[in-house]
Amino acid sequence: MRGYYTFFERALRAFNDHSTVSKLLVISSVRLSSGLPFLNFFSYLFLFVLFDLVDGGGLLAFSDANAFQSYAEGDGKKKKVVVLGTGWAGVSFLKNLKSSSYDVHIVSPRNYFAFTPLLPSVTNGTVEGRSIVEPIRNIARKKPFGVGFKEAECYKIDPVQKKIYCRSTDQGNTLGGNEEFTMDYDVLIVAMGAKSNTFNTPGVEEHAHFLKEIEDAQNIRRSIIDCYERASLPSISEEERKRIMHFVVVGGGPSGVEYAAELHDFAHDDLSKLYPSIKDYLRITLLEAGDHILNM
Ligand SMILES: Cc1cc2nc3c(=O)[nH]c(=O)nc-3n(C[C@H](O)[C@H](O)[C@H](O)COP(=O)(O)OP(=O)(O)OC[C@H]3O[C@@H](n4cnc5c(N)ncnc54)[C@H](O)[C@@H]3O)c2cc1C
Repeated sequence: MRGYYTFFERALRAFNDHSTVSKLLVISSVRLSSGLPFLNFFSYLFLFVLFDLVDGGGLLAFSDANAFQSYAEGDGKKKKVVVLGTGWAGVSFLKNLKSSSYDVHIVSPRNYFAFTPLLPSVTNGTVEGRSIVEPIRNIARKKPFGVGFKEAECYKIDPVQKKIYCRSTDQGNTLGGNEEFTMDYDVLIVAMGAKSNTFNTPGVEEHAHFLKEIEDAQNIRRSIIDCYERASLPSISEEERKRIMHFVVVGGGPSGVEYAAELHDFAHDDLSKLYPSIKDYLRITLLEAGDHILNM
């Protein structure tokens, strides 16, 4: 995050210092790490897919339609800034926003910020999921001005009317239901990140794990334990045991390599003691389409 932060902070300072003349700010937070899997995918029970053309990277766009006018009129009304997303970009923007002359609102389906570099450590339990998240309301409450939060996703932006259309999602919502609402804005910050890229590889969506969210890391951990438990059953054939104990990480970028190393350490340091009878069946394969790993 280092280069990203420095640049981001400079951009934020510009926004704080010259908000009335800023017209458009586009910040891209992209980390390239791609691996295209060509091998015989379905010979493996579990595919741990980490490839992400823009690995969790995203685009933050700030657009201020008529910032100067709303101050020049001196109507005393605070400009309404709406931030979409509670990831690195959205939260960095919020943390760096100093001025209390804005009415700030955040909309995101995730009511917390997640520290993604530690996600691989959540897959092996070295770090608990809850240790790498911070509730967005906690971050908001530390600001010297009020910040509103709505747990919902934005599904449409009307730049002419300066209105966003939102709906609550099922994600982490135990109450069900699909509430819809609209919200006006003067300034809209789009920091919704990027979607994991499957490169249209058939079967990936249904059969593989991604590693982008806390839930993904927890699901991977559960799957690994399930594999070990199943491989320990006496009725499992030798062939099947080998298959179950073969873990495949797709994508030789930083996340894939880091995750493969975490899995190796987890298996050798912890699981081999808990499951001594099957420890020798373990195989970890890292797949990378390029001629070498960490090729960014
Ligand atoms: C395992 C892993 C390790 C990484 N390690 C590093 C590292 O060491 N160094 C580094 O520089 N980068 C690292 N990255 C990449 C880094 O996490 C991303 O570059 C960064 O998260 C991008 O920030 P973002 O705010 O654009 O997107 P995100 O952090 O993905 O945030 C997007 C936000 O938008 C919200 N959102 C989504 N859809 C909507 C919608 N429709 N309406 C409203 N809100 C929405 C999401 O819920 C989320 O809160 C790592 C990524 C992963 C997955």
